[in-house]
Amino acid sequence: MKITVKKTDNPKQKPAANKLVFGSTFSDHMFICDYSPGKGWHDPRIIPYQNLSLPPSIMTIHYGQSIFEGLKAYKTDDKKVNLFRPVENIRRLNASCLRVCIPPVDEQLGVDAIKALVDIDRDWIPDEADTSLYIRPFIFATDPYIGVRPSNTYSFVIITGPVGAYYKEGINPVKIYVESNYVRAVIGGLGEVKASANYAASLKAQVDAKEKGYTQVLWLDGIKKKYIEEVGTMNVFFVIGDEVVTPALTGSILPGITRKSSMELIRSWGYTMSERCISIDEIYEAFDKGILREVFGTGTAAVISPVGELNWNGRVITINNGKIGPISQRLYDTMTGIQYGKIPDTLGWIETV
Ligand code: PMP
Repeated sequence: MKITVKKTDNPKQKPAANKLVFGSTFSDHMFICDYSPGKGWHDPRIIPYQNLSLPPSIMTIHYGQSIFEGLKAYKTDDKKVNLFRPVENIRRLNASCLRVCIPPVDEQLGVDAIKALVDIDRDWIPDEADTSLYIRPFIFATDPYIGVRPSNTYSFVIITGPVGAYYKEGINPVKIYVESNYVRAVIGGLGEVKASANYAASLKAQVDAKEKGYTQVLWLDGIKKKYIEEVGTMNVFFVIGDEVVTPALTGSILPGITRKSSMELIRSWGYTMSERCISIDEIYEAFDKGILREVFGTGTAAVISPVGELNWNGRVITINNGKIGPISQRLYDTMTGIQYGKIPDTLGWIETV
């Protein structure tokens, strides 16, 4: 499908790279494509970044039928632009669509749309260390209708914006609160897809944890509140003795692309990399035995984020003396090295725009 382009007549002022606040500046253009039953997905177009005009009856506002993705474009030293495994994001976008009754988009159209949009706004990609262009594809229900049923019409939109570090701590360890009261998702719910509703479900715990001085929460399973799921917008890994372990994808955890990539790297380095159920008791026991070596989160926004402290029902433990551990550091260096084109992409993860 051909993507038409209408360029802006009024390019905006770009912010200084050292003043970037994650998620608050948007570039000059956006992509939009519509769905209706007779036509399917149609009229893919790039237009100047602008407000959407929506009727107050639009279904997405009332019933939350909306899903999204997040990935980044990185500028290399020789001014090439790298995308990290964008097909994986479009596949997950489609998995999310299917779960909430949204018609999936053509995989090639999704990737082409991202590439075309990044290309048109390539001057928006900052080139200072650790900065990138964040890309936010999303799809939402557009029928003007009150009543619970899947919408007949949808919009697929992509916006982008320059970003610096996701956490103010950067690569320094963050403090995480183990949430034993609220739950994010249960097996059979929406947890394994990127539905906007999951983030609404997570807000109260996040606000409470922030008030207590914690950056994010670690979610436990929704039924027994015993097994570890994930952290805020990251999957979570533990180094226990010589084993690297991350929770298995049981159905309520988002299958992170950074998670999958980290596991591939860790295995290629010869470590035992397990995906299995891990109880919070096991983590505290490992700490007591002195074999809990590292804890870290993985996600597009922060890439690798070491965890320096956990608080579970008031029991506070400090991991690796609050310092980044060797596997976290190696993963961060390798992953960002590949993304910024400083390390050869032998795994075929990069697509250049
Ligand atoms: N879990 C949740 C709930 C997330 O929002 C994210 C960010 N997409 C992740 C995990 C990490 O996924 P990825 O590595 O694909 O960014």
